[in-house]
Amino acid sequence: MRDTLIQATYLVASALFIIAIKLLNSPRTARLGNGLGALGMLMGAIATLFYQEIVRYEWILLGVVLGGALGAWMALRVRMTAMPQMVALLNGFGGGASTLVGLVEVLRRVPQGEDSPVWLLTVGLSILIGAATLSGSLIAAGKLHEVITGRPIVLPGHHYQTGLWLVAALVLLVWAIATPAQGLFGLLTAIATILGVWMVLPVGGADMPVIVSFLNSLSGLAAAATGFVLQNYLLIIAGTLVGASGFILTTIMSKAMNRSLWSVLFEAVGGQVSAASAEGRTVRQTSAEDVALMLSYARSVVIVPGYGMAVSQAQHAVKKLLDALQKKGVEVRFAIHPVAGRMPGHMNVLLAEADVPYDLLWEMERINPDFPQVDVALVIGANDVVNPAAKTDPSSPLYGMPILEVDKARTVVVLKRSLNPGFAGVENELFYKPNTYMLFGDAKKSLEAITQALMEI
Ligand code: NAP
Repeated sequence: MRDTLIQATYLVASALFIIAIKLLNSPRTARLGNGLGALGMLMGAIATLFYQEIVRYEWILLGVVLGGALGAWMALRVRMTAMPQMVALLNGFGGGASTLVGLVEVLRRVPQGEDSPVWLLTVGLSILIGAATLSGSLIAAGKLHEVITGRPIVLPGHHYQTGLWLVAALVLLVWAIATPAQGLFGLLTAIATILGVWMVLPVGGADMPVIVSFLNSLSGLAAAATGFVLQNYLLIIAGTLVGASGFILTTIMSKAMNRSLWSVLFEAVGGQVSAASAEGRTVRQTSAEDVALMLSYARSVVIVPGYGMAVSQAQHAVKKLLDALQKKGVEVRFAIHPVAGRMPGHMNVLLAEADVPYDLLWEMERINPDFPQVDVALVIGANDVVNPAAKTDPSSPLYGMPILEVDKARTVVVLKRSLNPGFAGVENELFYKPNTYMLFGDAKKSLEAITQALMEI
């Protein structure tokens, strides 16, 4: 009876996960989807506590208190701009948990020597994938947090070495299945950890979204493997959902970057950082008043938000400018690049928070043909996603990535603090084009000044 109730709760929780993913499809229903997903997780966790094998609750309680406190502290403390690192870390923790569970099961069951090859395969996979996900995610989080350089770190023969680590891990896995021994699984953990580090080190700036989604997918696969180890159906279903949705996201991100996953992982695309330099060249600087004047005479304005909007938390100031422009009868749209910011959907989330209507958000493919008819393209803290080097400079790490073609607009105004490059570390030719004006300063302050001036016109 007890087991039937647990399994029935798992079934309801699984259904909640699937409904949650469906609801996450649209910003209007995403909040509800998130809530239902969390409810499913809570139900699953509570049902698991009723397992007959659990005889003492002290350690579980300690884990809940420590983990809960750490999670709450992170959620409250972390700034919105540091969210991508946190997501990368949480992917890694998922992988780490799978490895730990796998290792504990190895310690518990392998000495008895009664396990089937299939069970040994699943425990080996949960250790291998989990450990590679943990170490890879730590490197990714370090790169996103800029404690490790965002540029590709490529050792001589790097990709052959990665291939060798992968082969070594697979050989060990087969060996451990053929002659199960605790030491072999320990060695597998060590090699998988190195594999994760080797895999992520050469991934450079602009390609991080691809690798972070891939690690997310791996963390799901590791959890699913752990589900097989423990014969826990909820874990199998939840892990498979994360693995599959993460893989779909990886495909979307690869497509957005115009790269294959293979080339990101094994070919160090964008390994070179172009040497274009700002020396001896000048840009046209402008003022908030002049930008307000340009905007007030415009018929069509396209706002291009980027990571700098997130840094300066300028989304509410953007909404105020939108309202002021619409009041003056100017047509305003937003151009959203799929990898703008530091996580998928970053700009959509921020603009939704400021109540910018969703139908004003245009995707890259849809808005690019319109730029020649746009009077003013207002670039707010975006850099890589509008860098023409992606189309013109084969030595650039951005080469091949589709960009928002703001340079085709009649006038371009760029709001940023300096001429510093973006995440990929590449100079931006856009700033030196004859139709580009730079408004230096914090994006939020600049926007407030523009809106103020606009209302006074
Ligand atoms: P970006 O290339 O990182 O450039 C952001 C720009 O914002 C910087 O050049 C910076 O210039 C400016 N900025 C920073 N703080 C500012 C402030 N307070 N006020 C005004 N400007 C400010 O951004 P992006 O064009 O959005 O491109 C995103 C990049 O991140 C791509 O390379 C993408 O591949 C990568 N990435 C994306 C994801 C994802 O999932 N979306 C994940 C990981 C990496 P100043 O310092 O001069 O102000």
